[in-house]
Amino acid sequence: MSDKAMLEVKNLTKHFKAGRGQVVHAVDNVSFTLEKGKTLGLVGESGCGKSSCARTIIRIYDPTDGQILLDGQDITHMKQRELKPYRRKMQMIFQDPYASLNARMTVRDIIAEPLLAHGIVKKKDQANEYVYPMLERVGLTKEHANRYAHEFSGGQRQRVGIARALVLQPELVICDEPISALDVSIQAQVINLLKDFQEEKGLSYLFIAHDLSMVRYVSDDVGVMYLGQLVEVCEADEIYRNPLHPYTRGLLGSIPIANPRLAREKEKSSIEGDIPSPIDPPSGCRFHTRCPYAKPICSEQAPQLKDVGGGHMTACHLY
Ligand code: SF4
Repeated sequence: MSDKAMLEVKNLTKHFKAGRGQVVHAVDNVSFTLEKGKTLGLVGESGCGKSSCARTIIRIYDPTDGQILLDGQDITHMKQRELKPYRRKMQMIFQDPYASLNARMTVRDIIAEPLLAHGIVKKKDQANEYVYPMLERVGLTKEHANRYAHEFSGGQRQRVGIARALVLQPELVICDEPISALDVSIQAQVINLLKDFQEEKGLSYLFIAHDLSMVRYVSDDVGVMYLGQLVEVCEADEIYRNPLHPYTRGLLGSIPIANPRLAREKEKSSIEGDIPSPIDPPSGCRFHTRCPYAKPICSEQAPQLKDVGGGHMTACHLY
């Protein structure tokens, strides 16, 4: 593993048991590397496995197979106690700040909780020296410390969520759709805040979103997931300039654009139909049931994710 890698994920697989002996293939054989101080955007439709992937990496779920290396340390099978110092290094910001913040706790207690859990302070009142500067840093004030989550707007709640995640000074932050639930006018403010922190602290971000437009301005690299698998990974600029996988092209086709000629072109590549069930994923290439370019081999043989030039990886029989 390169010492530049903050996170390396190798063949990560997460299956869940469903009723009647069925298995949900949430994440299958996913591999990628996130370098220190960089952002990898992970994109795909709802149900494609990106959140399960994130929660397995942060060990909310135990992996079914594969390997997770955090700053060179294999954390794949660590027990909770052994994992504790590594939990401080990796934190998560959730999509719905209202659901993820305890409604009965003040903002001070919400931000102090991880400091107490990791033994950084012994008593709640000692936490103020961390809580107040953190609130100011995310654009709130110390007067907000005694309020409850329901007293804030969506954007302010997400600022509290960011303060809670960053007060431990993590090195890796998994942002699970952190702006999807916010008004468009607030999204840019939250993105700018995250970018400022990254510049200041050299943070690495795994940034999850359901469409490519959301990760465009934050990502150095982008990975596209479909039905539990990575189908394309490359530098962010490259994926917008030269998308190769038909699914990626479809996702780009669903981004609204103002130019009518380009809009017509993009419409041709939009994806039709619904994402199939991860309980019984299609054989071969999992996208073959929706792909306008599918050929006989596509339903028989699964394409491997491979470098098709300049580090641009895709899993498709067309290449
Ligand atoms: Fe389409 Fe075949 Fe490529 Fe899958 S492998 S994306 S079905 S062309």
